[in-house]
Amino acid sequence: MKPVDDIFIGAFQAHRKDGTLFHHDSKKAHELFQISLISAVLEGVYDGDITYRELAQHGDFGVGTFNNLDGEMAAIDGKFYQIKSDGSVHPVDPAMKTPFACVLFFDPTVEFALEELTDFKQFEEALDRAVPTKNLFYALRVDGYFEYVKVRVVPRQEKPYRPMLEVVKEQPVFELKDKQGTLLGFRFPDYTQGINVPGYHLHFIDDKRETGGHVLDFRMRSVDVKIDITPDLHMEVPEREDFGSAELGKDNAESIRKVEK
Ligand SMILES: [Zn+2]
Repeated sequence: MKPVDDIFIGAFQAHRKDGTLFHHDSKKAHELFQISLISAVLEGVYDGDITYRELAQHGDFGVGTFNNLDGEMAAIDGKFYQIKSDGSVHPVDPAMKTPFACVLFFDPTVEFALEELTDFKQFEEALDRAVPTKNLFYALRVDGYFEYVKVRVVPRQEKPYRPMLEVVKEQPVFELKDKQGTLLGFRFPDYTQGINVPGYHLHFIDDKRETGGHVLDFRMRSVDVKIDITPDLHMEVPEREDFGSAELGKDNAESIRKVEK
């Protein structure tokens, strides 16, 4: 398997060769790049056409999943990881594809430390104090000590796919304790309901890159919080039959809460 470091380097060189111009040292800063919609994932559209090699051209930091809904993706420090439903962490093969992902080139504009023991609710309150409005997109990174992290990992699915509300009934949930690691992900405004996950969508990966998942709860202390405030969202939806025929306009606030929180 090709080391994932090469994904980004490869993408970078490809762009330089064809003369594409970028600002910010060839990377497009403060622009979120999103593949598909959370609504589509809820409806069981678990396959996409974009490879991680292609995705890496648009960002090297973020969260997502894989075709067949095969686990949770965490992109951090330019490397892409697949967290499988046994909780193990693997480098991503650039040829793997994603039905849903959200990435950017992380370039934080707000930073602060939280020394005291902080739970999810206290973290939300600290963040509300630190950022100007709930109506922009925030990419977040929190590094430090985690006394407790509760994560889930979606298990690989085979066709015919069932809606995610059924899949999550049997998803593995892990309670990690005493880990140095990173929370990474996004906070989306309420008005993005159905486009992405309103509120927090965070994944955890430990410093040893041995375990992680989609975050349900945590307690942490002595952490550094970094926030990239992003007013830009670039979204690409798949031109596929399964996406084309999915019912995506439903009121799915309750379903998203059950599936992602
Ligand atoms: Zn997730």
